[in-house]
Amino acid sequence: MRLRTILAALAVLAGAIAASAQEKVLVVATFSILGDFVKNVGGDRVALEVLVGPNGDAHVYSPSPSDAKKLAAAKVVFTNGLRLEGWIDRLVKAAGSRAAVVTATKGIAPIEAAERSGHKAEHGTDPHAWQSVANAKIYVTNVRDGLIAVDPAGRATYEKNARDYLAQLDALEAEVKAEVARIEPERRRIITSHDAFGYFRAAYGVQFIAPQGVSTDAEASAKDVAAIIRQIRRQRIPAVFLENISDPRLLQRIADETGARIGGTLYSDALSDEKGPAASYIDMMRHNVKELKAALTS
Ligand code: ZN
Repeated sequence: MRLRTILAALAVLAGAIAASAQEKVLVVATFSILGDFVKNVGGDRVALEVLVGPNGDAHVYSPSPSDAKKLAAAKVVFTNGLRLEGWIDRLVKAAGSRAAVVTATKGIAPIEAAERSGHKAEHGTDPHAWQSVANAKIYVTNVRDGLIAVDPAGRATYEKNARDYLAQLDALEAEVKAEVARIEPERRRIITSHDAFGYFRAAYGVQFIAPQGVSTDAEASAKDVAAIIRQIRRQRIPAVFLENISDPRLLQRIADETGARIGGTLYSDALSDEKGPAASYIDMMRHNVKELKAALTS
């Protein structure tokens, strides 16, 4: 009798533990910027794991066994797609994950990377679609729909969170455009390490020139570097920017050789840590525009 009571009590307890663990939807996002979108839409309903964290480079990431564990437990995995994360399909498979895989750039018009001589491996689609706020809004709607699909009970929450966040992104977009408008058009030209700002260029009209292609997996060739040095001199490009995910040495050298100023650090493919200036997507875009403006208007 007593044993049965104890067993019954244990069963209730086990049920309660299972229920509290299941209360949150386990979600994986491949990198920090996408993770921030998921956090804003998922709110308290999701337990989020981000594979490539702050200041990490998603192009050349090497997944760890703990990443496979996170994927095995996840209900849904959000990826950027457009070949940013060349490692994700294999990882999902190796993990035996049954998670729904949602490509957050679905519906975005991809832009083709600028071709450059002797760099055939770098041709192809530019994955950095988040660098336009209009695209970020498409990411957010895809995240919203992906969460509703695996957690229909949360629909009202996800819809409200997405609506609130989309309104913030509308304000951000207006702000970015207004700030760029204050830079004289002929000064809207800078150098960065890798070609991560194609969507920013298309949306806001700032030209970014990069010795490295749209991925960080191949080094810039000597020929490309020489061409950029000539271009900086010819076009009197005022500033060179470092990136939070890239080795600064090449850009330092280009700055030394040309006399271009180091304008600061741009956040291209990853957020900063909590204490940094780009801990969220909105802060990242604000920071980047502030740096551009400071270097190009003085
Ligand atoms: Zn990149």
